[in-house]
Amino acid sequence: MSDRYAVIGHPIAHSQSPFIHAAFARQTGQDICYEAILAPLDGFAAAVHAFRQAGGKGMNVTLPFKLDALALADSASERARRAGAANTLRFEGAQIFADNTDGIGLVRDLRQRLALPLTGQRILILGAGGAARGVIEPLLAARPALLAIANRSVEKAHALRTAFAELAESTALASGGFADFAGAAFDLVINATSASLGGSELALPAGVFAEGALAYDMAYGLGETPFLKSACALGAARFADGLGMLVEQAAESFYLWRGVRPTTAPVLAQLRERLAQREKA
Ligand code: NDP
Repeated sequence: MSDRYAVIGHPIAHSQSPFIHAAFARQTGQDICYEAILAPLDGFAAAVHAFRQAGGKGMNVTLPFKLDALALADSASERARRAGAANTLRFEGAQIFADNTDGIGLVRDLRQRLALPLTGQRILILGAGGAARGVIEPLLAARPALLAIANRSVEKAHALRTAFAELAESTALASGGFADFAGAAFDLVINATSASLGGSELALPAGVFAEGALAYDMAYGLGETPFLKSACALGAARFADGLGMLVEQAAESFYLWRGVRPTTAPVLAQLRERLAQREKA
């Protein structure tokens, strides 16, 4: 019988993870099946235990359960502990190991697909929620010159800056509200807010995009988001959505479970095609 894996969340119908992992399994010859599980908002732990008892080997965890996933685990990677959230669970007998692959997924997408050096660059992260928290450590590991965190609720941006200060080494850390960074040119601006999901405008200050800068929206499958639109108006030179990050974080989860690293580029191309077809339909 195939080894069983699943993604769990609420809602879950929109998840692309079953498609991605099925493609990885075909590509690498791994005998797995991967399903999507909708857990009730108050029933995350029970749903995880039921899946494990039914022979499940591991799970991906998405909104709104990433914090619960870390809390449920018996052990966790350093990167998951620092992020305060987990998106991957691996069942090891009676034990649950938790990891967070979102950050490494973003960094691989930026470095390998988008050919951004990160080292020595100036980076602005918009947002201070779970996604922002998960990407700060791997971004700092790339030793940018400056990492600034801007958030609507300014105190959360300051709290993240304090939480990661000891990892900054040669990187200057800054935090504040969006307007505080007007005129401070960045090579990379990452939208890690959830504003794109609701189609809300983001009050991007003028002058945040340096010459040749990349605007990266972690959201995906939404076409040109208000963030990408205003980045274009404010002079960004390159644009990317978060689909590459999604495929890269999935590849890292697959590796954690199976010990095999899939090739991501063809799967990203298939996924983009699938979403484009869906948009047309
Ligand atoms: P959270 O709910 O944890 O955080 C939301 C953040 O967005 C907060 O900082 C919040 O600010 C800010 N925000 C929400 N609405 C607005 C607005 N209208 N204007 C300004 N700021 C706003 O969400 P996550 O961090 O989990 O997710 C953020 C995004 O990242 C989502 O779009 C998600 O889909 C995406 N994501 C993509 C992944 C990928 O693989 N591509 C992986 C993980 C996440 P405040 O604190 O003031 O409320």
